[in-house]
Amino acid sequence: MSHDEARKIRLIMSLRGRGITDRAVLGALERVPRELFVDPAFLDQAWEDRALPIAAGQTVSQPFIVAFMTQALGLTDRTKVLEIGTGSGYQAAILARIARRVYSVERHGELLQVAEKRFAQLKLHNLHTRHGDGWKGWAEQAPFEAIIVTAAASEAPPALLEQLGEGGRMVIPIGASSDVQRLMRYRRQDGEILEEKLLDVRFVPLVRGAPRAEGWQ
Ligand code: SAH
Repeated sequence: MSHDEARKIRLIMSLRGRGITDRAVLGALERVPRELFVDPAFLDQAWEDRALPIAAGQTVSQPFIVAFMTQALGLTDRTKVLEIGTGSGYQAAILARIARRVYSVERHGELLQVAEKRFAQLKLHNLHTRHGDGWKGWAEQAPFEAIIVTAAASEAPPALLEQLGEGGRMVIPIGASSDVQRLMRYRRQDGEILEEKLLDVRFVPLVRGAPRAEGWQ
């Protein structure tokens, strides 16, 4: 067994010990090669339970948070999911291994290009991306049964709540970037929006305004 394989098994076991029981989620974490999504300088840490820096001052979340948020979405192979903040593409690849179709929006053109190459390499044909502002969601593809936001917002973006279908779940960190943020789950049930606090977390901010086309910033 390779060193990476042993680390991977240790990580999956530790996730199970911390309440990740959804077999589809554990299976996806096992199958998606995290080493493909991290900066080569951090390759030796790809299977550690840590957040790692990616380009443009962004981060790929620690595997526990990826697993926890994915589990909280309650996905099946019939679900249509929207992700805001493609970043490295790791979370999107996990979603694509479980759900029917994944739509992912990223404001950084360069990050998106790198992520798209990885998706092609992994033949994730049920994953669609858009360069744009995640505050607006992806109206043409709405409604979604699940929405995941992987950057912290000051409030639940109204457009995303609108694009959540009946019975749909949205998982999103809420709070200012300098504070501890709360990971929240919103559900649309009988036309009402119910909210529930899940965990304290720390994410990069969900930026407002036009998407960036050039330059790492
Ligand atoms: N899910 C990613 C995590 C990336 S970090 C992964 O698995 O690697 C958060 C990402 O959100 C960054 O790539 C950042 O550029 C993006 N982001 C921030 N504000 C955004 C916005 N308004 N619209 C779309 N993407 C945004």
